[in-house]
Parts: sequence; structure tokens; C-alpha cells
Amino acid sequence: MLATMLYGPGDVRVEDIPEPKIQLPTDAIIRLSASCICGSDLWPFRGLQNVGAPMAMGHEYCGIVEEVGSAVKNVRPGQFVVGSFCISDNTCPHCRFGFQSSCEQREFMSGAQAPLARVPLADGTLVATGDIPADDLIPDLLAASDVLGTGWYAADAARVRPGATVVVVGDGAVGLMAVLSAAQMGAGRIIAMSRHKSRQELALEFGATDIVSERGEAGIARVREMTGGVGADSVLECVGMEEAMDQALNICRPGGSIGYVGVPHVVTFDGQKLFFHQKNLMGGPAPVRRFLPELMELVLSRKINPGKVFDLELPLADVAEGYRAMDERRAIKTLLLVNVR
Ligand SMILES: [Zn+2]
Repeated sequence: MLATMLYGPGDVRVEDIPEPKIQLPTDAIIRLSASCICGSDLWPFRGLQNVGAPMAMGHEYCGIVEEVGSAVKNVRPGQFVVGSFCISDNTCPHCRFGFQSSCEQREFMSGAQAPLARVPLADGTLVATGDIPADDLIPDLLAASDVLGTGWYAADAARVRPGATVVVVGDGAVGLMAVLSAAQMGAGRIIAMSRHKSRQELALEFGATDIVSERGEAGIARVREMTGGVGADSVLECVGMEEAMDQALNICRPGGSIGYVGVPHVVTFDGQKLFFHQKNLMGGPAPVRRFLPELMELVLSRKINPGKVFDLELPLADVAEGYRAMDERRAIKTLLLVNVR
């Protein structure tokens, strides 16, 4: 089968590799309905994360179960499933506490930018739908696997409540999903920080009430002014850079909460400053598995359409162009058609 391999910075290729096989009794093999490129795939693509050997890319997936190992009980061949980018057993103490992304058996999914993928711990990781969903819902269901689940976690971690004033820092795909999530949770005001016209428009469509295009000190001052000098109840940090975290800390009101889901790259905290800031901080890799049943139901009942975040669609053979388009910010997020033969 043709699959996506990253060899080094800027060097992503489609290669003919053997189809994945069941390796453990708890595995499943799924035939993907679609795949996509994640913002985090750009870190190794940009050379900001070491790639020792060719790396099988892709961790967002949904599709039809092809085969299951002998110990798998919760899903069966022929079912449509969505799984988290974090592999989890869903039974250990951390999973039962709702933090499947810290599962005692945690693994990170890989190799999903391909027609077939192996999913370890299938019983704990995959969630099946009752029926095979309509084709037009595939992008929305695929989004639930990571980008929507991560945006949702940002809102959950920032304790978004009905009527709350929310600020979303970052207008990438996750930031836009964070806007949608805050709107679903009933936020009264959602301020999206974005400098890009097309992303501002999408943010407004997903439920943002205000746009702030200033960044840094000017952005902080603008949000302070908009909130009568108080600051926001909840701040959703969806970037992972020092400037964004600094904005989040300074925009959030004392006693308020910051949900941070951007993987930190060179972010440092000053203990004294943090002490006197008096803000709740919660973040990390999203426990998408906790939210999957609810998110899938919202999609299947057509209450949300997160799939709108995909603004570029390419066949798997053109995956390198998908990476370049996102790297150069020509695309927000690329959907990959994996079953075109
Ligand atoms: Zn677990």
C-alpha cells in the first residue's frame, strides 16, 4: 500500500510499504475513510523535532474495521470507528479519571496517512457508530480524532461555563475548533485572536463574537480594554509558544482558567509570577477518548460541522504538497483522500 513517510526536514514521501498486520491480540486494523495532516506533523517537517529513521506519519483517523485481534470485544469488522490520536486501554486509574492521554499503557498513534492502519488497544481506543455514517460526515468525524477533540479539551480545561467571557489565542485549526467548542459550551463572549482574514471569517462562523488582530502587549491591552480591565474568565491557548502563553497569562482574570493545548516549544514559567497571577492552568495532550462519544453524537446529529476546518483536499499521492501548503500557511488543514487507487 502507499503510505506517508518522513525522511527528514521538508522530505515527505509516499512509499509502497507492506500492509499493517495484527501484531497483538488487542489490535485492530482499520481501512481509513480519510486522513489528514496535523499542525504537529509540521514540527518534524520543519526540522524542529529529530527524525532518526524514516517516520510513518499520521495520527488522525476514522474508518471501517477490517480485522481485529482475538482479545478485542468492543468493536468488530465492518463497523465504522473513530479513535483518538492517543492509544489508551480506557480501564487504568488515569483513564477512569478521564485522562486517557496519560494512560498507563499510552502510545501515540502513527502511520495513519495511509489506506490501512493498525490501532493498538482497540477496545479502549476506538468508538463505533451505530450505522455507517453518510459520506459527507467523514471530514467532521475525522476532525473528532484530534483537532476537534483537542480544541474541546482546551475549552474543558479552561472551564468554559455558560455566559463566560472566553479568549482563544491562536487561529490555527485547533484554535478554530476551540472557538467552536467554547460556543457549544455556551460561552457568552468569544474573542478570537487572529490576524488572518480567512481564519477570522471561519472563527466568526464557528461562533466567535469578537476578533482581536493585535498581538503581544497590544493584544493584551486590547482584551483588557474589551473586558473593562478585568480579563477573561477562560483563556484557550492553542499555539505553544512563549508569546502566546504570556498573552494567555496576562489576559486571564485572577481566579480564571487557562487551557493550554499547543505543544510548548521553548516556553518557560517564572514561579514568582505564576504565584501572584493566581490562575488555574491545565493542559497537555487532549484526552480525546473522554470526549469522543459526545463529539461523535454532535456530528452525527449535525449540530456541529468541524470538518469545515479542512480547506484543502488532496489525494494521498500529493501528500507532500499538503505539508508544504500548511507549512507556508496557504492551507489551514489538509484532508487526505487515502482510498483512491
Ligand atoms: Zn489507561
